[in-house]
Amino acid sequence: MSEIDTGVAAAEAEASPVGKIMLVGIGPGSVEHMTQRARDAIAEADVVVGYVTYIKLVADLLDGKEVVRKGMTEELDRAVHALEAARAGKKVALISSGDAGVYGMAGPTYEVLFQAGWTPDDPVQLEIVPGASALNACAALVGAPLTHDFCAISLSDLLTPWPVIARRLDAVAYADFVVALYNPKSGRRTRQIVEAQRLFLRHRRPDTPVAIVKSAYRRRQHIEFTTLDKMTDSDIGMLSTVLIGNSSTFVRDGLMVTPRGYANKYDVEQGFETRDGEKAGRSLSTGLLGWLETLQAQHTEGHTVADLARLHRLPVEYIAATLAEPVEVGAVAAVGEAEGEG
Ligand code: SAH
Repeated sequence: MSEIDTGVAAAEAEASPVGKIMLVGIGPGSVEHMTQRARDAIAEADVVVGYVTYIKLVADLLDGKEVVRKGMTEELDRAVHALEAARAGKKVALISSGDAGVYGMAGPTYEVLFQAGWTPDDPVQLEIVPGASALNACAALVGAPLTHDFCAISLSDLLTPWPVIARRLDAVAYADFVVALYNPKSGRRTRQIVEAQRLFLRHRRPDTPVAIVKSAYRRRQHIEFTTLDKMTDSDIGMLSTVLIGNSSTFVRDGLMVTPRGYANKYDVEQGFETRDGEKAGRSLSTGLLGWLETLQAQHTEGHTVADLARLHRLPVEYIAATLAEPVEVGAVAAVGEAEGEG
């Protein structure tokens, strides 16, 4: 938008105030971990809606505002009211803990808005203010558990059928993801975590590290390290997130760490020498192209597609398809790239 456009838009906005909905993720629950934009969005709002605990955190910003303290089960109502108020010209901030897009208000709000005929061209605009989610907060407190592939699964069956949840647990346990379990247990939902453990134990070692973080960055913060086979003995509740390590995750000196994989390439104990067959800045010898060469060689040596599928724990169709599209031997890419993400 040019400066002139902005000026016109501002003048129009003054003539007939247009409301706005802001979904504000305030992080785990301490003022220090809230973003500047989150604070500004709340300061900008005419109406602030949220649970009492979160409203308290921003008490200093609420002077002269309409404050709506809400309970747990009224998410759709809240979105409907926010839209009504915004249509009436108000700026409404809906406060979520963590990130509003992670098991938060963002989804229900869009659903309600679309249902009401809203489109992105509507004068009422929706802004989502990102915040640090529980998994970021909890990970930071226990060490570095998420430095390799991870995923989040909510054990809440309030809106999701159990077979869907169980299938996802089974799939990620098999696929060796680090997992953050949200909504692991409540007063009424006590068996879900036991079933999750049962599914995980089919694929992971009983001594797989588990961290249970309760009320991260809040007054009653509590951290407990345990293992997969014992995790259900721990105190787990509505305000806990359960982090389950992958097959490489370890705990040392009270810190849970998931290796990035540097040890695959470098001799970490011997001055970080590059291992034989590996090159800094290149894919591993077992990366895609190197692996395809190996696969091709194994196939040529007489391994059947079914053997190779079993050996590499991959679907037969996938092995067959990759063998049908061979790499030229020695074609392994020569382009260097950084291993870190900066
Ligand atoms: N939008 C939130 C998640 C809401 S679902 C976010 O992005 O973090 C509620 C679940 O989040 C809780 O049951 C718990 O598993 C987790 N959670 C939220 N805040 C937490 C905190 N401060 N410490 C530990 N877990 C937390």
